[in-house]
Amino acid sequence: MHSKPLSKIDLGFLPTPVSRLSNLGSVLGGPEIYIKRDDLTGLAFGGNKTRKLEFLLQDALTRGCDSIITAGAAQSNHCRQTAAAAARLQMECHLVLGGEAPEVASGNLLLDNLLGSQIHWAGDHRKGEDIPRVVEQLQASGKNPYVVPYGGSNELGAYAFVHALEELERQLDMRQFSHLIFASSSGGTQAGLMLGKALTGGQYRLLGIGIDKGETGDIPFDRFIVELANSTSDLVNASARFTQQDLILDMRYVGDGYGVVGELETEAISLLARHEGILLDPVYTGRAMGGLIDMIRRGELGAADRVLFWHTGGTPSLFAYADSFQTCENP
Ligand SMILES: *Cc1c(COP(=O)(O)O)cnc(C)c1O
Repeated sequence: MHSKPLSKIDLGFLPTPVSRLSNLGSVLGGPEIYIKRDDLTGLAFGGNKTRKLEFLLQDALTRGCDSIITAGAAQSNHCRQTAAAAARLQMECHLVLGGEAPEVASGNLLLDNLLGSQIHWAGDHRKGEDIPRVVEQLQASGKNPYVVPYGGSNELGAYAFVHALEELERQLDMRQFSHLIFASSSGGTQAGLMLGKALTGGQYRLLGIGIDKGETGDIPFDRFIVELANSTSDLVNASARFTQQDLILDMRYVGDGYGVVGELETEAISLLARHEGILLDPVYTGRAMGGLIDMIRRGELGAADRVLFWHTGGTPSLFAYADSFQTCENP
């Protein structure tokens, strides 16, 4: 199947490495597990948003914009990487963050400040509801702002994961794999991987672990992802078409909701840290790996399977969640 490639700027160190988690595999029993290290994209501590921003900020440059606006939670990895990308391009960066200014900025918020972004606190609006207000302010002051959507999840952001799967196929023969597992939140990663899998003829199960209860916007989250996969396919003139049946989004692990860290996450984080020397993050990859481990324990993944886990980044927020680990002493 063919598609029209889109142009991008270089922001990350790609390809990111792939390795086998042999220690974790022997501790857990069950499938062989490999990891794709998008925590190592390199842009101000890296993460999956670096890939999306390569395409999104190319578009901003093409349109002659001089400032960038995006939105997220106070500990948003997306906002931190956007701030770093804007600094690299010497563009003004405005972040519309949920909540109120804390007394001490830590984790991603500390980095947002260091990277020179301007922060607009938005109370309980953490998904960009206040972006239009900031756009108006900037336009009134003579700026030409570019809006990067919440999570970078539009067609350009999703396309970055078509590109990422092509990168992965050059590193590993995905025909040897039964599952590709990753954290899914604003949907761009999953939509792009769905399209990439179709374009590369993948046969594995593409399994998104839901991170957020998905109370976003006007349409249900699962429909949003399928529609985004279709509109991304249209954008690159591909003929791939998706329906609800093509989407696997496992919502069993959302627990008490976005960013609420429990034993599922802390156990997964400490297992990876102690057995592989790899750090996961508390909000996304800790939850997704917690889900993967649970599926092994339930026998849903077994010795006949081979799993690729996509590490999507997020590690700077570990420092903002230090309190969640006080109860996680040596077992
Ligand atoms: C944003 C993010 C995700 C989810 O990606 P989406 O494209 O928003 O679904 C996963 N992991 C980390 C660390 C993230 O920052």
